[in-house]
Amino acid sequence: MPWKGETDPYKIWLSEVILQQTQVAQGWAYYLRFVAQYPTVQHLAIAPHGEVYKLWEGLGYYSRCKNLLAAAQQVTKEFGGVFPNTYAQLLQLKGVGAYTAAAIASFAFGLPHAVVDGNVLRLLSRFFYITLPIDSTEGKQVLTSMAQALMVTNQAAAYNQAIMDFGATVCKPKQPLCGECVFSHNCQALAKQTVQLLPAKAKKAAKKTRWFCYLVVRWPAKGLVLARQRGPGDVWENLWEYALLEDAAAFDWTDADMEAYLNQWLGTQARVLYRTPVATQQLTHQSIHCRFVVCEAKGPKKPPLGFEWIPMANVEDRAWPRSIASFNTQTGPQAFTLF
Ligand code: SF4
Repeated sequence: MPWKGETDPYKIWLSEVILQQTQVAQGWAYYLRFVAQYPTVQHLAIAPHGEVYKLWEGLGYYSRCKNLLAAAQQVTKEFGGVFPNTYAQLLQLKGVGAYTAAAIASFAFGLPHAVVDGNVLRLLSRFFYITLPIDSTEGKQVLTSMAQALMVTNQAAAYNQAIMDFGATVCKPKQPLCGECVFSHNCQALAKQTVQLLPAKAKKAAKKTRWFCYLVVRWPAKGLVLARQRGPGDVWENLWEYALLEDAAAFDWTDADMEAYLNQWLGTQARVLYRTPVATQQLTHQSIHCRFVVCEAKGPKKPPLGFEWIPMANVEDRAWPRSIASFNTQTGPQAFTLF
């Protein structure tokens, strides 16, 4: 992995933010693209936000991208462009929690702060037979204290890398290599034959289901389409979207219903061309079912409040949620595939 052995705090931070909620295989390419486009934190701090969001497109959890921009500007304005080099200062950066601060502190500056990821939690909960859920506050606190107590303080980076790698390659989630494990003689979970039951996890909250109907209003004579940037307080903040109708169930409006609504909203005649099948985008806590209704209209010249007419030819220059980006790359009702 390109960030292994890295000592530049900026690049360590970048890799940690990208890898939160993202598989290594997917994050790898994004990391390389970010480092190539923004080789230093100063480059990132002055980058146009739309450009950074576009580069982030497809990674999801866009609050990470928002925090990335905010923290880069903090480094420039509050720390004179130099990445902070203490754990306490790192924690002041937007979006940097205990895990990321410990990773930067230990890998870049050799400071003795334990990095506690899922691999470490699993290994320690099995070895010491800790049955507290690892996704509970108490479970995390207990296991983090243990990781910290075990820290080899004069080799913080090596210790953190070793314990994470051991969890990832030996004490694996499924089929851990207990037969080859150097800790097998003292492992409490192995002695109690409970390896497969640990780590314990709290019950997952039920996913919320949402139904989105996007009205893709095109003005063909001008080559424009109506869109807006999403605001705060919901998923996909700052990303672009088409006019959205949301309901608690699938929309069953007829074309005539849809046209009546559009005529009223736009103050001009609109026509429904076609609609796509429903596709579902899975987020951690939500399932979002999306349908696109493609329409055409002649104006109005002044778009409705909050919207812009943007050129259809370069919609792909902007950052969209994955469902809309997928729709944008396809043409016609039959060509639209589920994602
Ligand atoms: S013996 Fe098995 S469960 Fe225990 S630490 Fe080793 S790999 Fe993990």
